[in-house]
Amino acid sequence: MTFPLTDRLSVIGAAAFVSDVSESRRLESVRRDFVANVSHELKTPIGALGLLAETVLDGDVDDVTRQLAARMVREADRLGHTIDDLLDLTIIEAQETPVRESVALSALLAEASERMEESAEARDIPIRISSSAQGAAVVGDRRQLLSAVVNLVDNAVKYSEPGQPVELDTVTRRDGSVGIVVRDHGIGIPVGDRQRIFERFYRVDEARSRQTGGTGLGLAIVRHIAQVHGGDVEVESTEGEGSVFTLWFPGAQRRRLFEAS
Ligand code: ADP
Repeated sequence: MTFPLTDRLSVIGAAAFVSDVSESRRLESVRRDFVANVSHELKTPIGALGLLAETVLDGDVDDVTRQLAARMVREADRLGHTIDDLLDLTIIEAQETPVRESVALSALLAEASERMEESAEARDIPIRISSSAQGAAVVGDRRQLLSAVVNLVDNAVKYSEPGQPVELDTVTRRDGSVGIVVRDHGIGIPVGDRQRIFERFYRVDEARSRQTGGTGLGLAIVRHIAQVHGGDVEVESTEGEGSVFTLWFPGAQRRRLFEAS
């Protein structure tokens, strides 16, 4: 950072602040490698434990053993998802500058909805895409953007009751920013928890998250993806009425500044 030193009207010099961030960058990269390696190392044995428990479940066993084996299958599955999410988060964190391609939001929303179709149908939750979600586009990494929207839709489905629809839409602000909106009519989020839900492993209701197979990492991933694209994520919610999550991305002008930085 540099700035001029002035004596009333004339410039008499300049000051510059220089900070060496190489050590903190190095430590950050060691931390990321460590998480990635641990995640890889854990995935294989956890997968094997799940398969072994499934074998027990398929065998000729008494009820108690069956119940315990079924629980082991569920827990191994949940741990597998947590490891996948941890890996995703580490990969996204490592990729400071995401790929930049133009991503049409109508296609992105359609793909996210398709990915979630099966689990939404299983819970009798219709996913509706607004017809106004046409034409808008965001510049960024398609895979990451899709992962952010899928995470939001997954939550909207998980925290709604059967029959309550999930709605996907896009909005444009006057300054040109583009938003992807995921609205549900589910349980809502208490005011006191709203800022904390984006922290890793933070859950409003531990038991419900466990029951729905949540990892507590979904919204941390969503926020990180928004931020590496120069955007952010906002939430509005009313307990018992539902929640609206909006992923904001910069418009063309702010995007040029972000890309130049
Ligand atoms: P999880 O895997 O537990 O869903 P997330 O990071 O995705 O983790 O979300 C964190 C917490 O925020 C959840 O445990 C849940 O309590 C709350 N939450 C997220 N999305 C919604 C939503 N659409 N409606 C109600 N609560 C939500």
